[in-house]
Amino acid sequence: MKYEKVKNYYNGEFVESVSTESLDVVSPLDGNLLSQVPMSTVDELNAAVESAKNAFDAWSKTPIKERVQVFFRYRALLERDLDELTKLVSEENGKTYDEAKAEVEKSIELTEFACSMPQLVSGEILEVSKGVECRTEHFPLGVVASIVPFNFPLMVPNWTMPNALVLGNTMIMKPSELVPLSVQKMAELLKEAGLPDGVFNVINGGKEIVEGICAHREIEAVSFVGSTHVAKLVYQQATHNLKRCIALGGAKNHLFVLPDANPSMTATNVTASMSGCAGQRCMAASAMLAIGNVDSIINQICVEAKKVIPGKNLGAVISKAAKERIENYITEAERGGAKILVDGRNAVVEGKENGTYVGATVIDFVTPEMSVAKEEIFGPVISIMRTENLDEALKIENANPYGNAASVFTQSGGAARYIMEHASAGMIGVNIGVPVPREPFSFGGWNESRFGANDITGKSSIEFWTKLKKTTTKWNAEAGVNWMS
Ligand code: NAD
Repeated sequence: MKYEKVKNYYNGEFVESVSTESLDVVSPLDGNLLSQVPMSTVDELNAAVESAKNAFDAWSKTPIKERVQVFFRYRALLERDLDELTKLVSEENGKTYDEAKAEVEKSIELTEFACSMPQLVSGEILEVSKGVECRTEHFPLGVVASIVPFNFPLMVPNWTMPNALVLGNTMIMKPSELVPLSVQKMAELLKEAGLPDGVFNVINGGKEIVEGICAHREIEAVSFVGSTHVAKLVYQQATHNLKRCIALGGAKNHLFVLPDANPSMTATNVTASMSGCAGQRCMAASAMLAIGNVDSIINQICVEAKKVIPGKNLGAVISKAAKERIENYITEAERGGAKILVDGRNAVVEGKENGTYVGATVIDFVTPEMSVAKEEIFGPVISIMRTENLDEALKIENANPYGNAASVFTQSGGAARYIMEHASAGMIGVNIGVPVPREPFSFGGWNESRFGANDITGKSSIEFWTKLKKTTTKWNAEAGVNWMS
């Protein structure tokens, strides 16, 4: 085992779990055992919540301009340890070094945004009638929780932690049991940055801890990122227990490709979108709607897909089970009559035979009722559906229950505008394969890709992590008394 057993973190200390149950943490790159993660008990969750509760009073009363100083230092530490963090993310998740580095860099950007909060949350003031002022102020909620998935071991935790903490909350984080090491490192860096003990806490575990979070009386808000199935459960449980909740779910992102699209730009973008992070991104291209004759672009996508080499510029998928699931999808499509233009099944990387790799896969002549057309595959696979026109393509996209992202590839402003208006997704790209809005814009899908009212990052997250206080004041007697005062 390369690293020692993962510990929980509360009261500013790393604590070995009392649980006798644990899971192996295995690197998808080569199948090597990295560590073990405890399936912590609800008592341990309770201890972490107590720690967060005790820290809340002092932290929430610390002026925001002082709170952000911790995050300026945390940002510097992320930069200092960029190489170490990159290797850790790659090791536990299976993505390539470059992809993992981008994840650390994105975490730095997210922290920079959190550092700008004092400029964004100054509230409002207005004289609403003679001598009478109304002002608004953002107040933290209290103890909040963040439950995160395996596909971005460092970035998704940094979607929530910096904003929630800078805004004065204290937090319990529940990492994915598949990739718990990056969050442990994150806790170490926050401590080194001078974050007061108890403000950030980590409890490792699975379903029992998630259910414990959703039921805990002292937790005010729950953010969740993961599959739609679990997002629905978490949203239902947390709101049933009267908590504020945002729960981001899975995705099936559609790319609309028109005959006038720039062929090389389209081919490289589509391939990068479907195969980047081995297709394990909630923003990955998964279905391509080929409108009219785009054969030459499809040929070029195949050329690009063949340049994506497992173990070189293509990372591993998270587990043996994931590899099997993805390959089954491909086989099922083939049996259903679709044509496999580029086949990534049975990929093996020499010297890493226990790694879990699936090569980039292009499937053509997929029909809308096939499972590869409808379901989230979460692997480096693109399913191409042929359509006659934009409306037919939109009908397919609109019928899908998800709604994270959609992109259009065209040189026509009118066609692009039509998709921007009619695609049923929260994030739209025009000639962009992965249309992630960068800070200060916020991240969040529609439909079954997100439950709850706000987005999870950017300015929209301020409303989620705070409550607004409205104060009306009058100091001068001459202000008088009338129905407005
Ligand atoms: P997952 O839903 O299996 O797990 C997410 C978290 O929920 C983990 O911490 C896990 O321990 C916990 N969990 C798992 N099963 C549970 C259960 N039955 N009850 C309670 N908690 C449970 O997701 P994953 O496989 O880790 O991540 C991949 C999924 O996340 C994909 O569907 C992907 O699209 C989605 N995702 C979405 C976004 C987004 O922004 N919409 C971002 C990243 C990932």
